Amino acid sequence: MADDEVLFDDVYELCEIIGKGPFSVVRKCIHRHTGQIFAVKIVDVAKFTSSPGLSTADLKREATICHMLKHPHIVELLETYSSEGMLYMVFEYMDGSDLCFEVVRRATAGFVYSEAVASHYMRQILEALRYCHENDIIHRDLKPQCALLAGKENSAPVKLRGFGVAVQLPTSQSNGVACYTTEYRQCLSPKGQLYLKADSEGLISSSCNFPFEDLTDAEDSLHKYLQDRDKGAARIHLGDTIEELKKFNARRKLKDAVKAAVSSSKWHAPYSEANGDNFSDVGDDEITTGAVAEIVDCLDDIEILEESDRLLRSEVLNAVDDHRIRVILELYDRISGRVPAPYRAPQTDAVQRAHDVEEILREAEHSAVRNIDRADLRELHELLVQPHMRVSTLY
Ligand code: AMP
Repeated sequence: MADDEVLFDDVYELCEIIGKGPFSVVRKCIHRHTGQIFAVKIVDVAKFTSSPGLSTADLKREATICHMLKHPHIVELLETYSSEGMLYMVFEYMDGSDLCFEVVRRATAGFVYSEAVASHYMRQILEALRYCHENDIIHRDLKPQCALLAGKENSAPVKLRGFGVAVQLPTSQSNGVACYTTEYRQCLSPKGQLYLKADSEGLISSSCNFPFEDLTDAEDSLHKYLQDRDKGAARIHLGDTIEELKKFNARRKLKDAVKAAVSSSKWHAPYSEANGDNFSDVGDDEITTGAVAEIVDCLDDIEILEESDRLLRSEVLNAVDDHRIRVILELYDRISGRVPAPYRAPQTDAVQRAHDVEEILREAEHSAVRNIDRADLRELHELLVQPHMRVSTLY
């Protein structure tokens, strides 16, 4: 940690929020002397450590690992501060979005997204990973969100981040093939398969669709794939892949929006107070947020597994042991599979009744009934003639 005497606020000016996690917020900040922009991850330590299974040791491990990693394709941690229960981790600022968003943005702007481009980025990510492995560090959470573009320009390098659950292997285990294989297997999560889906249509060469079980095979295949990138076919624009990425990004945005909504105070306060539901017994916002995030992730994974034609939905459901999760998944199936039926409102005499009430009000206003407040009558009348009230009485 940095010198206790110097506070984060003394050195940096905080700017807008870039993103939020359950225990942290990432904000832009400006170095007061140099004017340089950075990204600071501010962790609420009490919130973090109150979550089951998490402790300050985890934060320390993340900071230690990030401090250790200095590589052109890894987002650099410059310094850390700690004050008033908050941990400030100052990272170099990445002006581009994550790889999947940037690829779509650039393709939409007319740039070619080809295998050559994909392998260019893959090479950078793999170089970062190789560097991590050489230093006995296993990332353990590789996903598109962890690959950020340093800038918006086409030549901007991609850099790896998200070392929150990374570990450094004890020396005795290091350099073992098994460790590498685990990491490569994680690359082959269902989400990796998604990008390679276009293979069936011959858009991505089979050389990149290799099994990761065997490290040597994987390395050979990768090497060949990366070498082939300058060949003619590798320069064809992958329109279908961009379409897949758009769908994938839309799902991610939706998931993030659900998570943000659930973790906002607006979600919790009225819900638990007004509804008297069982969830209010939980008494801990983070538990609810975590559970919702897990369910949303789970639904997303199932969607991907299904789209990649690797498993039927019934096979996925059969594999889920927990009865409650099965019920939620089946409910989700019913909701997403529902064909909206044309809605026809029941016959009603609401229009006639509204007219009757209007008539009564008019009479009351002109009558000599003293104990009725004329202002109230007028207000009620105005309400009844509002356009939305008129429209609703028609249905
Ligand atoms: P996180 O909560 O760690 O997933 O990060 C929240 C958001 O901050 C994500 O959209 C990240 O892309 C963004 N972010 C994290 N680190 C940086 C950085 N060094 N520069 C720019 N944006 C970042």
